[in-house]
Amino acid sequence: MAGDPAARRVTVRCRSCGRRNRVDLARVGAGPKCADCGRSILLDRPLPVSDEEFRETVASAGVPVLVDFYADWCGPCRVVAPFLEEMARRHVGRLLVLKVDSDRWPELTRQHGVRGIPTLLLFDEGREVRRHVGAASLAQLERLAGC
Ligand SMILES: [Zn+2]
Repeated sequence: MAGDPAARRVTVRCRSCGRRNRVDLARVGAGPKCADCGRSILLDRPLPVSDEEFRETVASAGVPVLVDFYADWCGPCRVVAPFLEEMARRHVGRLLVLKVDSDRWPELTRQHGVRGIPTLLLFDEGREVRRHVGAASLAQLERLAGC
């Protein structure tokens, strides 16, 4: 149902206050705001997530979700980072980009069979549909995301 505008919603946490917000991605251009603190919910950039946020965002997303398992000390991860930012900007409202710090969330990383970083997973309707291990170009990310 990813192509159905009525289903293009996602639950994300507010970066400022932590409140869960249900965002209509079809109206992302209107600038969604947190229902509690009123701060903007910015989906045009990669979102750093905890294991719990990862699960609720992937499960609730009405659009494909591109997830980057990375670590701060990883050189190839730094190479991919600007391409992920570009993906989030370019496909805002049609794709979500999440970042999982594999050092902070080792259990989640293991659960997804991630053995090397960066590993990029594409989820659609809550299920992994594709993955890419190692550094990737923007063109490779576009193919991975099916854009
Ligand atoms: Zn808030």
